[in-house]
Amino acid sequence: MRIADYLPPAAERLKTERTFLTDGPYYGRASMAGQCVRQCVYSMLLAAGRIDVPEDGSRDDLTRSTAFLIGDAIHTWVQEAVRLYDPEATVEEAWSTDLLSGHADAVYTDEDGAKVVVEAKSMSASYFHSAMAGGKPRYDHLMQAGVSAYMLNASKVHVIYICKNAPRSISPTLEWVLEVPQFEVMMAIEALEYAAQSARDGVIPARLYQGHEIDLPGDEHTCCRWCPYTERCLMDGPGVHPLELVDDKWVVHA
Ligand code: SF4
Repeated sequence: MRIADYLPPAAERLKTERTFLTDGPYYGRASMAGQCVRQCVYSMLLAAGRIDVPEDGSRDDLTRSTAFLIGDAIHTWVQEAVRLYDPEATVEEAWSTDLLSGHADAVYTDEDGAKVVVEAKSMSASYFHSAMAGGKPRYDHLMQAGVSAYMLNASKVHVIYICKNAPRSISPTLEWVLEVPQFEVMMAIEALEYAAQSARDGVIPARLYQGHEIDLPGDEHTCCRWCPYTERCLMDGPGVHPLELVDDKWVVHA
């Protein structure tokens, strides 16, 4: 018997419970903010068991589960740190609307009295180095924090990156405290609402990213670099695709 054989289902269960148990899959979640609209819809339909998606062969279950559990531990660590700074801070503050839902890793009040939403991300050295070189948080991470900040009436976001395997020569943390970028956040909210409505209506939407339509998925589009649905997306092709419910699965309308 190998304990490792039992680890992936345990982590997957925890992830599913955290993500969907309370409100079901057909919500545009803040964690999807800044992604391509079609990617959000695939995630919702997959979580609902309504579509099949070719397996992402790049990482096996155990690798994904390990990364998730390490990330979870790092979030708890950051939340403890926030509460040391502000004992009144809240953690895992949830919010929802008819079409959207999400939670903030933590919410604290800064020395100027401003309400600040914390978004913590754990990452490998390669992603960490590119964020360091870019000098700013990734767009989707900023949008995730921004959408929660908007919903919780916070005026600032605090994005924290923690590198899981930083070399000794660099600090393993990067942090930015920023005003909420209102215009971009409103666009991200609109995109999430459109995605949630499309998933409920059984429609694969166009490949919409930051207000533009992508012709062909590829690494030149930032959103495609981390998307696990490229194969399915190529199969479905460009444009909008209404789906038909057959045996509890949404299939592309013939
Ligand atoms: S592959 Fe690119 S265009 Fe297709 S769903 Fe993923 S992010 Fe969107």
